[in-house]
Amino acid sequence: MTFDRCLTTARALGIATRAVHAGAAPDPATGARVTPIFHTNGFVFEDQQHGADLFALERAGFAYSRGANPTTAVLERRVADLEGGTAAIGVASGQAALLLIILTLCESGDDIIAAREVFGGSRALMKRLEQRHRIGVRLIDVANPSTVDAVIGPKTKAIFVESIANPTGAVVDIPAIASVARARRIPLVVDNTLATPVLMRPAELGADIVWHSASKFFVGNGTAIGGLIVDCGSFDWAEDARFPLISAPWPDYDGLVIAERFPNTAFATACRLLGLRELGPGISPTNAFLILTGIETLQLRMERHVSNARAVADHLRKHPAVASVSYPDLPGQPGYSDAQRLSPDGAGSIYLVTLRGGLDAARQVLSRVRRFSHLVNIGETRSLVAHPASTTHRQLTQEERLQYGIEEGTLRLSIGIENIEDLIEDLDQALTEL
Ligand SMILES: *Cc1c(COP(=O)(O)O)cnc(C)c1O
Repeated sequence: MTFDRCLTTARALGIATRAVHAGAAPDPATGARVTPIFHTNGFVFEDQQHGADLFALERAGFAYSRGANPTTAVLERRVADLEGGTAAIGVASGQAALLLIILTLCESGDDIIAAREVFGGSRALMKRLEQRHRIGVRLIDVANPSTVDAVIGPKTKAIFVESIANPTGAVVDIPAIASVARARRIPLVVDNTLATPVLMRPAELGADIVWHSASKFFVGNGTAIGGLIVDCGSFDWAEDARFPLISAPWPDYDGLVIAERFPNTAFATACRLLGLRELGPGISPTNAFLILTGIETLQLRMERHVSNARAVADHLRKHPAVASVSYPDLPGQPGYSDAQRLSPDGAGSIYLVTLRGGLDAARQVLSRVRRFSHLVNIGETRSLVAHPASTTHRQLTQEERLQYGIEEGTLRLSIGIENIEDLIEDLDQALTEL
């Protein structure tokens, strides 16, 4: 919108600049420089025709905050810009983002393909949809992209992977999976929560839809739950009968065909109509504001998260009490060359550390840490530690847990932005006499 007016330049702007400015402009009514929190459910129509046009999608604008809100709209434009997409949708959580994506693409009887390493909550949601709503899940080993082609079936509607896997930190070969997806005309959906657009931009690597838990690095301080869905504008939905919500007429919208009316933002538009207007899991404007504010410092924070994560991983992998560290970002670690090629600025700051002393050792560390907080979030300014086998990955079978590399003596670390010597000192004292 008026973003161009504040920042006109012939050059493409850098990511730190866009993280501060994209999608926002001084408030035209008051001059407020920071995007205001618009806590209003309704927006007054100019006249009867204006209301009718907004409801028929003949005109852009705000009608009722369940479907669109001006504070949330700035967040949506900013994240779409950072990811290089055409439009984005703000939702109440990362889980809500995944649910909306699946329901927009699939109906009962369809199936999806997913990396078996996807985040525990994503896997749990997929399992539930399979049991209760007959949306099948075919799991793949993303370390082997050549196996993806064989599991695609006639009813396969999407492929789901994470750019950097939670909790292992493994960097996924998106270009390799994208080339299969493109050849078979299946949308590739990438969860970019752990990488953020500062480290990886899946749209540039071949993804069609990118999504986030904004509760992590985006908000950054652990102060709000939220999610974002980005339409990369790359998939051709037109006249594709496999995706009726996007390519067939909506009788209750005067025969609207979303892919015809909104060819560049068809997926986002379908998500907004089905997801926000009908199902209703929008984000609160206050949470959108907190996340927008967090994103302004994203680039700086990611630099520090990565440099601290590298130093801690390097220290721990040499520690006698540690059996393994899953972080691929250091020479000699498994997955190092993929991490360097695909995410050269760093593989995020989340990884698993497995202790030689098993569960007892893990308990000791959790009870002794002082600067690390023992809780289940990731991507906060403060460093965090959790015991996945008994918390985040508890609902999985032991065999499934082992696929993630999670044993009884495994801890998940999320390295924050504190001074590195303070983090290392804390871990050293927690690991003594193990
Ligand atoms: C946390 C997380 C989610 C779920 O997001 P919520 O905001 O907690 O609902 C999804 N994917 C990944 C990779 C996550 O880390």
